[in-house]
Amino acid sequence: MAAHAYDAIVVGLGAVGAATLYQAARRGARVLGIDQYQPPHDLGSSHGLTRITRLAVGEGDAYVPLVHRSHQIWRELESATGLDIMTTTAGLILGPRDAVAAHHGKPDFVRRTIACAQRHGIAHEVLDAAGIARRYPQFRLRGDELGYWEPQAGFVRPEAAIEAQLRLAGVLGAQLRTGERVLDLEPHAGGWQVRTDRATHVAAQLVLAAGPWIGQLLRDSLGHAWSASFSVHRQVMHWFDAGAGTPAFAPGKFPVFIWKFGDAQEDYMYGFPAVGPGPLALKVATEQYSLSTTPATLEREVSQVEGLAMHGSRVQGRFDIPRAPPLQSRACMYTVTPDSNFVLDELPQWPGVHLASACSGHGFKHSAAVGEALAERVLGRTPTVDLSAFRHARLAAHAYADKQKEIPSFPSGAVTGTIAPQ
Ligand SMILES: Cc1cc2nc3c(=O)[nH]c(=O)nc-3n(C[C@H](O)[C@H](O)[C@H](O)COP(=O)(O)OP(=O)(O)OC[C@H]3O[C@@H](n4cnc5c(N)ncnc54)[C@H](O)[C@@H]3O)c2cc1C
Repeated sequence: MAAHAYDAIVVGLGAVGAATLYQAARRGARVLGIDQYQPPHDLGSSHGLTRITRLAVGEGDAYVPLVHRSHQIWRELESATGLDIMTTTAGLILGPRDAVAAHHGKPDFVRRTIACAQRHGIAHEVLDAAGIARRYPQFRLRGDELGYWEPQAGFVRPEAAIEAQLRLAGVLGAQLRTGERVLDLEPHAGGWQVRTDRATHVAAQLVLAAGPWIGQLLRDSLGHAWSASFSVHRQVMHWFDAGAGTPAFAPGKFPVFIWKFGDAQEDYMYGFPAVGPGPLALKVATEQYSLSTTPATLEREVSQVEGLAMHGSRVQGRFDIPRAPPLQSRACMYTVTPDSNFVLDELPQWPGVHLASACSGHGFKHSAAVGEALAERVLGRTPTVDLSAFRHARLAAHAYADKQKEIPSFPSGAVTGTIAPQ
């Protein structure tokens, strides 16, 4: 094999790419990280001051070792940099006892989370409405709620986590090129050549951690039709002024929470204690999956009407927060796969190209350990956490469905056997 300037190039330095770059540099690899902007920035999926983390992961058991390992890494990063990265506040997941409310594509999310905690020996309590009200009188309940309470849950500060990992990666010898956009990828001398808008770089392996730009990057650089299996959805975070009641929402008094109201995916909100920097306010958000967007066409402005609609549809009647436009609202993007699970895999058609899409709305809490496992894989070592649940092959059926959509006159019954992703 030819010698390359780098063992690996990481494209995209958000949550996943920053973690991968840091972990590869920590293992002595010659690595280059490239980002089109100046991370941490507020143009992708990793901004907005807080991200929920919880150890019992109702999205699936394969995530549990990732979040455990990530918690260790967040603490190591805090010691190494002095930055404030993870705050343990406890977490509450609640919903109507008789609903099978889905979340992140998984039905009956509250009970799935309880079962996950039981299987993995994660400290927790199961609460009824009276138990929730005793612990957190800030929630105005209907009376039919079932709650999962986890003392080790809390939030991660995304911008600080990214900054810490990029700073340490640089100290460990990683090269960083920011304000540089990757345009093209080509096989080159047993490795890969990366052409950007400023230069050409060569490495043995590539990690594509382009977040919501992943579809565009795959299509433009590799002509990969399977990119249609990633959809991008605008999400909005709102910060509401709790007025004189703000101390009741302080960390220590108030948990991170996921609150389902009914069975539909979007019939819910989640939120955080009031933390700075900036005005102390209750941060809440919901999710929407009906409208898709792209990073280029995303509506980044959030209108007052949207803020008031969020208050009217979800906050009002559930918290004692006066009706008023939010102090602040920010748009962000989810990159969602058809089954809401991550894709962390080497592309079989392009050996040496590793696809790293860890989002579907729940990726941040896992990103430190995802980066570690990806770095280990790229360097030919056994990953600390097994990533085999996140192979791309499971999306083949969806790639096939995408193809059918593209060809309206597709004759029914004309296909036999399976169609592999392109
Ligand atoms: C509103 C919101 C709330 C969320 N809440 C939670 C939560 O509570 N808990 C949780 O665990 N997760 C949560 N998530 C999910 C989590 O934030 C994401 O999974 C995670 O941030 C994804 O990181 P990423 O590195 O994949 O993408 P990004 O952070 O967007 O990084 C991608 C990077 O690639 C760069 N890039 C792209 N294309 C190119 C190119 N051609 N050349 C150079 N650079 C390029 C971009 O500039 C960007 O910096 C939330 C997400 C959102 C949007």
